[in-house]
Amino acid sequence: MAYQTIYPDTNETLKTYENATADDLNRALTTGHALYQQWRNEAPATRKPILHKVAELLRLHKHHYASVMTHDMGKLIGEAEGEVDLCADIADYYADHGEDFMAPRPLVSKQGKGYYIRQATGIVMAVEPWNFPFYQVMRVFAPNFMVGNPMILKHASICPGSAVAFQELVNEAGAPAGAFTNLFLSYDLVSQAIADPRVAGVAVTGSERGGASVAAEAGKNLKKSSMELGGTDVFIALEDADWDRVYKIAPQARLYNAGQVCTSSKRFIVPADHYDDFLAHLKAAFAQYKPGDPMDPKTTLAPISSAKAKQKIQSQIDEAVAHGAKVYYGNEPVDLPGQFIQPTILTNITKDNPAYGQEIFGPVAAVYKVDSEEEAIALANDSRYGLGSVVFSKDPAHADVVARQIEAGMTFINSSFITVPELPFGGVKNSGYGRELSELGFTTFTNEHLVINATEH
Ligand code: NAP
Repeated sequence: MAYQTIYPDTNETLKTYENATADDLNRALTTGHALYQQWRNEAPATRKPILHKVAELLRLHKHHYASVMTHDMGKLIGEAEGEVDLCADIADYYADHGEDFMAPRPLVSKQGKGYYIRQATGIVMAVEPWNFPFYQVMRVFAPNFMVGNPMILKHASICPGSAVAFQELVNEAGAPAGAFTNLFLSYDLVSQAIADPRVAGVAVTGSERGGASVAAEAGKNLKKSSMELGGTDVFIALEDADWDRVYKIAPQARLYNAGQVCTSSKRFIVPADHYDDFLAHLKAAFAQYKPGDPMDPKTTLAPISSAKAKQKIQSQIDEAVAHGAKVYYGNEPVDLPGQFIQPTILTNITKDNPAYGQEIFGPVAAVYKVDSEEEAIALANDSRYGLGSVVFSKDPAHADVVARQIEAGMTFINSSFITVPELPFGGVKNSGYGRELSELGFTTFTNEHLVINATEH
């Protein structure tokens, strides 16, 4: 597969990049490993100013980085700028908290005086997707930089411009060689990296299929791994929801980033007596979205990231309809050359419909009608995924009771999905394992090193 930037609004190939070679990989491993050994003897405080500088540069050149992402994969320029701000916040967060997270933790034991200390383990291989080309990379880079784990990036083949821009950012901030190395690797070279003893672990964000392949390589080599994979997140509006709030938030929960978010609400579950109103409101809101050039701030619906991704979404809609789903709104061709999919609402999806269990990674909402709260929860949990979920209720205790029954890594109450540096992010079931962000995300590739002295108490 070639690493190429093809602007999804015009289909113009803006740049093609050469794949990395086995020699390139070996050089990156040698440099990264030497840095890991050096960092083992240096306090995290020495890295703190560099990470703050990364944040500063992101804010200073926000439009530049945002524009690179938009040209790679088509996201709206305003959303891309929001992503750059979030990345700056993540960098600042780990710069500010890294030392505390690394501090020794005392342990109480009759065997002696003890503690454990978090230590670096070596190079982390990160395999990342295109839907948030900077944010996904930052979620791995910032914590591991403070830990002292160098990182090698294999980015998605459709967003090489973002990978290069991230490399330039880290270099400009003054990070030492090997701290972050972007390589345009083939799958085979990713496997070779994972097998290399200098690599301590692998972080993947991507599809269930990609995650399973890389996790198998990690397992074979006994390497730690974290998997941030797909989802079929539910949006449950309970009877006692604030329905004006539901109507306001539901469209964005599905259409942000043209629906290409792992934690987008994909299945909307609504009580029968609110079903018709909900559909009417969702349709009216979806009809307002304006497709166009994502660099134009007036555009509200971005193209899909690539021709291949658009085809996949279209084939999933076609298959859903062939199996009895009804198109309540949308699914008309968009008369523009770019890779657009009209926002679409599907209803009447039965359990035997392939769409019932699939993640549709685009602007397609599946709406389900239920007769009880129990039915809503059962439907929510009848998925092989368990990433995020959304619950709406005016009663906080009621919302909590429902939230805890959902088999998911995250539940957002009275809001669409939220991601900020201090909150952990991740899923259960086939949505993967491990957490990114927060203190939990800091420890994915650390060694919790026990030190105990039997003659001291
Ligand atoms: P993908 O096809 O799995 O690709 C993700 C990354 O994995 C890309 O860099 C891809 O490289 C690489 N890859 C795939 N198979 C590989 C293999 N066998 N060996 C080495 N690398 C491999 O996923 P995608 O379609 O780009 O991304 C969308 C998916 O990501 C959705 O399912 C979404 O829900 C999920 N996602 C999850 C989260 C989360 O935090 N849970 C966040 C964002 C997205 P190439 O591009 O070269 O194929």
